[in-house]
Amino acid sequence: MPKIKTNRVKYPEGWELIEPTLRGFEAKMREAENDPHDGKRKCEALWPIFRIANQRSRYIFDLYYRRKEISKELYEFCLDQDYADRNLIAKWKKSGYERLCCLRCMQPRDHNFGTTCVCRVPKNLREEKVIECVHCGCRGCASGDFSSSKQDDEDED
Ligand SMILES: [Zn+2]
Ligand SMILES: [Zn+2]
Repeated sequence: MPKIKTNRVKYPEGWELIEPTLRGFEAKMREAENDPHDGKRKCEALWPIFRIANQRSRYIFDLYYRRKEISKELYEFCLDQDYADRNLIAKWKKSGYERLCCLRCMQPRDHNFGTTCVCRVPKNLREEKVIECVHCGCRGCASGDFSSSKQDDEDED
């Protein structure tokens, strides 16, 4: 969760360009947290929160590493203010983890499918084609699932 802001926080240059998007994520997050989640399993109630947190980290990550639209100072600021998950981003930089949904799904324990969460298993190795993992509701985040077609616009460097 982002820390409570005081007026003493000094916002780096460029902040005003990303602030509306970050506020949007914040609003969605609040909505998800306040959702009464009637009839959902307990774990499912947390899925939207994981998903939004992931999207928000991805937004910051893309802006800095792929689109190169924000300064290092602003990037670090976002991490310090918990707008993005530093540990998750560290994984995204590693080959094989580019699309990791959350840190929990890569923990080798507590998984039904051997040593990793079902969502980390590439689509072509899974029996079920449609899944939602129990931890965060991920529908598959193995890097291979994304390497073809729709990711062509993302240049690796
Ligand atoms: Zn996953
Ligand atoms: Zn996950």
